[in-house]
Amino acid sequence: MTGMPPVGNGTTEPVVSNSAEHLQIDLHVHSTASDGTLRPAAVVTAAVEAGLDVIALTDHDTLAGWDEAFAACPPGMTVVPGLELSCVYSPSGQRPTSVHLLGYLVDPQHPGLVAELRRLQGERSRRGEKIVEKLVAAGYPITWRRVREFADGGSVGRPHVGRALVESGVVASVDEAFVELLSASGPFYVRKADVDAIAGVRLISAAGGVAVFAHPLAGRRGRVVDEAAISVLADAGLAGIEVDHPDHLPTESAQLRVLAVDLGLVPTGSSDFHGSNKVNRLGEHTTSPVAYRELIAGAWGSRPYVG
Ligand code: AMP
Ligand code: FE
Ligand code: FE
Ligand code: ZN
Repeated sequence: MTGMPPVGNGTTEPVVSNSAEHLQIDLHVHSTASDGTLRPAAVVTAAVEAGLDVIALTDHDTLAGWDEAFAACPPGMTVVPGLELSCVYSPSGQRPTSVHLLGYLVDPQHPGLVAELRRLQGERSRRGEKIVEKLVAAGYPITWRRVREFADGGSVGRPHVGRALVESGVVASVDEAFVELLSASGPFYVRKADVDAIAGVRLISAAGGVAVFAHPLAGRRGRVVDEAAISVLADAGLAGIEVDHPDHLPTESAQLRVLAVDLGLVPTGSSDFHGSNKVNRLGEHTTSPVAYRELIAGAWGSRPYVG
């Protein structure tokens, strides 16, 4: 196997504890490698302070934060290397729907994955620049250079444009920027060419990872897929669905909990922490140790980093 990240204490057992039932596990966390505001090392430190035992670093379309997170991982802490892959579910004759797939424990050197992530980085950069051009043409005083500075070499995303809008006094918060100016239904939105969701599940699996559908029914984020689509992705090899997420209403989580049982998918819970770019708190939702173990048992591309 290539690209196996180092394991701090030499064990391949990611969780060795007498009190496994009490482990606090948050499987969806962002850093400055994409649109979070804390560096990967600072995310790990914040997770320890929040009382978490396991976090997964899942930056958008990049693995760039892994090494820094591993290096910052203290004894007793586990960092699961992951990513959040930008996908689109687009069955013929139907409107395409944005889908985010969490991929855990992929081989960071898998050629197909590496190529796809490189393509997505280019897409993000070109599309970010186009959004800025549209905003500038409408008179908003921001620059692409400043947006790139906010992205700081990581995956460029709309939150970085949002920060430029906050800095120039157009809006009071990134959240407010998303209400109209950055909304997918607004006049300044530009699509990026995301990965076909079925191909995305297959790519994560081929790279030795396990795929989990992020915030599948979060209607407040925009249009979502139906249960039939989740079933199609399950057939393609999806391993789990994020049942508990800050953007899910209680009714949506309840529906997903039933669906996970029906489709034989692992139910996860997580915070989708983004530092100060979002209100989500680390550990706001968590994954049970049983679900965590079941999930990672299916992966062979890399291993959790045990500090
Ligand atoms: P992009 O990947 O560039 O299309 O940007 C989408 C990202 O923006 C999502 O992954 C979220 O992290 C973030 N986002 C979406 N809505 C909001 C919001 N209301 N406030 C802050 N960040 C948001
Ligand atoms: Fe994000
Ligand atoms: Fe997401
Ligand atoms: Zn996320």
